[in-house]
Amino acid sequence: MIIENSASSSKKKLLGFNVKAINVLKGIFAVLPLTLALPVNALQVKITPTNPKLGDTLSVEINRDNQGNSTNPTVAVGNNTYPAFEIAPNQYRAFVPTTPLEKAGTRTLRVTGDGQVQNLAVNVLNRKFPVQRITLPPGKAGVGATEHELKRVAAFKVLQTPEKYWNGVFLKPNAGRMSTTYGVRRYYNGTFAKDYYHRGLDYAGAAGSSVIAPAPGRVALVGRVSQGFRVHGNVVGIDHGQGVTSIFMHLSRINVKEGDFVKAGQLIGAVGSTGASTGPHLHWGLYVNGQSVDPTPWRTKVVK
Ligand SMILES: [Zn+2]
Repeated sequence: MIIENSASSSKKKLLGFNVKAINVLKGIFAVLPLTLALPVNALQVKITPTNPKLGDTLSVEINRDNQGNSTNPTVAVGNNTYPAFEIAPNQYRAFVPTTPLEKAGTRTLRVTGDGQVQNLAVNVLNRKFPVQRITLPPGKAGVGATEHELKRVAAFKVLQTPEKYWNGVFLKPNAGRMSTTYGVRRYYNGTFAKDYYHRGLDYAGAAGSSVIAPAPGRVALVGRVSQGFRVHGNVVGIDHGQGVTSIFMHLSRINVKEGDFVKAGQLIGAVGSTGASTGPHLHWGLYVNGQSVDPTPWRTKVVK
């Protein structure tokens, strides 16, 4: 209700002002289409960024007036439901991942809480992802992951820890230049790999160069080639909390153990070429509720 009240009272104050001032005011309110003005006790929902594109993380902030209701709100899109975690008193936030495998366009976010349901339409813009053409010799499909490796990594990526460990923008995890961006699509021997996209960022740091934690968190995965991590190689996974996780692949050395809490900038390992890798580089994947999103916005903008 906050918005309607302030709008009408501002309009009253503006009577007698020139047209230009009113247009400026209209402009201000025009940028708030996703903030709903609703009766008292309703959920107030705000979605950022305002013009999301494929690969972006949608942040759904939910404010409610009711005190003492113990159930957290949820946000559902299609068949997926995402939990909202408390970020301040009576303020909750859920993350909705978007990926290059989805279609651009409008989707409906169904926000449920306090016995109410709100449907919000969000338009996700298209984005051109680079395309690579890979030629594999006949019979060479590459290394396969072990079942142990797949199970451990899959369980790690879906962690939804209620605590929030990160604070501020995510740091660059290696000093090397970025060699492959997020979302690159591939053709193998002329056939489009419809389920493939590059699920992270590659940094071309020298073998042995430092890999640091981009943000605080708990080390929830440490895997080694010797334990069957044939594709990921030596790997570290950090749980940043509230459905956000980072994975670091192909390491030559690991400096942490499972259960460690790391700070932003803390050394976690060194660049290598272990696992399915053709040369030394760091692969950093950022996952939100199990889906690989573009880490780039997290590097430049604070997600509170
Ligand atoms: Zn990569």
